[in-house]
Amino acid sequence: MRTNTENGTQHFDVLIIGAGISGIDAAYHLQHQRPESSFLILEALESFGGTWLTHTYPGIRSDSDLYTFGFEFKAWRGAPIASAAEILNYMGEVIEENQLHEHIRYQHQITDADWSSEDARWTLRGQRTDTGEAVVFTTSFLWMCQGYYRHSSGYTPEWPGMENFVGPVIHPQRWPADLDLAGKKVAVIGSGATAATLVPAIAGSCAHVTMVQRSPTYFYPSPNSNEVADMLRELDIPDEWVHEIVRKKILLDQKNLTALSFSEPELVRGELLRMVTELLPEDYDVATHFTPRYMPWRQRLAKVPDGDLFRGIRDGQASVVTGDIQSFTSAGLTMTSGEQVAADIIVTATGFDLSVLGDITFRVDEVLVDFAETVTYRGMMFTGVPNLAWVFGYFRASWTLRADLVSNFLCRLFTHMDELGVRSVTPQLRSCDEDMELSDWVKGDDFNPGYLRRSMHLMPKCGDVAEWRHSQDYWEERELFPSANLDDGCLIFTPTN
Ligand SMILES: Cc1cc2nc3c(=O)[nH]c(=O)nc-3n(C[C@H](O)[C@H](O)[C@H](O)COP(=O)(O)OP(=O)(O)OC[C@H]3O[C@@H](n4cnc5c(N)ncnc54)[C@H](O)[C@@H]3O)c2cc1C
Repeated sequence: MRTNTENGTQHFDVLIIGAGISGIDAAYHLQHQRPESSFLILEALESFGGTWLTHTYPGIRSDSDLYTFGFEFKAWRGAPIASAAEILNYMGEVIEENQLHEHIRYQHQITDADWSSEDARWTLRGQRTDTGEAVVFTTSFLWMCQGYYRHSSGYTPEWPGMENFVGPVIHPQRWPADLDLAGKKVAVIGSGATAATLVPAIAGSCAHVTMVQRSPTYFYPSPNSNEVADMLRELDIPDEWVHEIVRKKILLDQKNLTALSFSEPELVRGELLRMVTELLPEDYDVATHFTPRYMPWRQRLAKVPDGDLFRGIRDGQASVVTGDIQSFTSAGLTMTSGEQVAADIIVTATGFDLSVLGDITFRVDEVLVDFAETVTYRGMMFTGVPNLAWVFGYFRASWTLRADLVSNFLCRLFTHMDELGVRSVTPQLRSCDEDMELSDWVKGDDFNPGYLRRSMHLMPKCGDVAEWRHSQDYWEERELFPSANLDDGCLIFTPTN
């Protein structure tokens, strides 16, 4: 690894924050497209994996298929929906095969990032989470792969009477390794992908599990297999081809489903409800418990592989209560309807705390950066903030699809900067953009999960033209990113001193 050390501080061409799937993706692309660049990943946790390392609750799995959640460059060989352990194993293979270990420093929590225009570099400060030792690095470019939520704790709302409950209240992000569920009644508050995973995973191993939801979510039951992949494998087609073909097929199917969700929402809604109804007992109250108030795809569509969530309900091991919680009691929950939910353990699958750029304090030439006052360049860089990019993936499609696109874009940008002989790049609104209407990072009528609604005021703004938009549209960005004109005046390049 090529690095410089000045006054005891190591300098890298690129520093990547986070060794989750986005950070590994960034490192791989840098290594292959920019072999002359020195780079290092700084990761607060003790190992790689990010989301898939932090979450250890029973049944933890993807809700995307791994053909698209996996990298563009590494074939997926398993069933489409994968456990956290399988995803970690896959990421571990990429690290191993590309000798990325030597490019990662674990237990390095970064807290401060200072840009100096004079030196054209960031200075990052933080500490080791194991020893408390202070750490300092410098870099020419900061590639933020910190994900979107705080890993140290999840989001748990306050309910009246919480202190009265005698059992443990557990957030899935902090699942105790020694939690014994045998013979216990468990209430899981929430109806998103986490609850949908957790409920079937524990249904057989506790006395009873009740999913307590304020309002229903769309679920998409489907077999955890892929017919095209199975057929190609039977024909002995190489794994790399299977990956590529199945990925393309899934992407096309998703594109069609997303388009249909907007053009014919009632049709999609009807079909999703029909699939769920078929898996529930006759006379089940689908209208109350499984009919969402929003139209499909306004929130992430939770896949239910092999319909396992509904099996527990059919078998009487799991049930659903829909409504508002009035209070916790010593023995469970009281709903505003008066219904009592008996529980020995309460799990709050209530979501995340959004963390904008890894809870790092950023300064540019000693001035604090407020990202909410910036406008995003193509959803990956920020006006007025030099040499910094972040990876914020897709909600409707797999996150990693965008990580791949951003990686390819940034490697092209670095090469362009070399060709121009410049050291810094800063997005800046052109004169023609100055009267542009600005909007939220994600429009509420487009996609509106709670963690985004709660924290939208902290996020950068978007404009109304492609250069300043964060479209959340894989198909659009797949065309736009590789062909984006880097000299259209949105990116201000500053020459080497
Ligand atoms: C339970 C769960 C299931 C999900 N399933 C899917 C799915 O099926 N499909 C999908 O597309 N998306 C899914 N998501 C969204 C998911 O988070 C992303 O898809 C993806 O894993 C994010 O990867 P990432 O590398 O960008 O971020 P993360 O996985 O969040 O990793 C970020 C890493 O950065 C580190 N970090 C952050 N700040 C700092 C700092 N200041 N200093 C040092 N290190 C720092 C963190 O410790 C972490 O390891 C899921 C999310 C959760 C919580």
